[in-house]
Amino acid sequence: MSGRRLHRGIVRILEYLLAPGVCLGCGCDPGGHHSLCASCRELIKRVPNPCGYCGQPNPLTGLICPACRLNPPRWQKIIAPLQYRGLTRDYLLQLKYSEALYLAKSLCQQAIDPFRQNWPRPEVLLPVPLHRARLLERGYNQAGEIAQVLSAELGIPVDRRALTRQRNTPVQSGLSAGQRVANVHQAFAYAPRRDYRHVAVIDDIVTTGSTVTEITGLLHREGVEFVEVWALARAYRR
Ligand SMILES: [Zn+2]
Ligand SMILES: [Zn+2]
Repeated sequence: MSGRRLHRGIVRILEYLLAPGVCLGCGCDPGGHHSLCASCRELIKRVPNPCGYCGQPNPLTGLICPACRLNPPRWQKIIAPLQYRGLTRDYLLQLKYSEALYLAKSLCQQAIDPFRQNWPRPEVLLPVPLHRARLLERGYNQAGEIAQVLSAELGIPVDRRALTRQRNTPVQSGLSAGQRVANVHQAFAYAPRRDYRHVAVIDDIVTTGSTVTEITGLLHREGVEFVEVWALARAYRR
């Protein structure tokens, strides 16, 4: 085992040992089985009245917002319950870049209701993949960690190898919407364990949606009929 891996292993064990009994947000005693205290949970805001297609707040009543009626996304449904700002944003950045894997579980706990209430359930969860080189460097895929927690909560299997990233593309953050689309164009391949008809693609956040749009197009071409996009958080349109 390399020194770096061993270090990671120890950090994770410590995280699991230390996390219970201390609020991850402020360090107070959260009470019960919570990993966040009531005041910190208050800071994790949900998207109000989200559109079922884009996940942004819908100014009208009904399932679909005016923008999606004009120009619907490729996927058939989105669930991305939390607003990508404040504490949620801090936690998702820590989950992505600082190996704070215990945060996957805490955030899933805060976001779980709409996933539970969603019916019919997808057959399988497909995490948005990292390129092999980046996975080796980082040691984990945050989308895979989230998929694992949702799988345990909902009893839906994960197929971690169905989607692969063929090109080691630059990270999307910091790119314009147009650059993001070009960046992920034909970046993915699909080789499922078996033919799926109804899947959920799992990511940490949905920003412009270019990654999940690209993946949805690929899945439809490969015969998947119903694609749901599941993320913990949705970034608002600017
Ligand atoms: Zn707290
Ligand atoms: Zn919409």
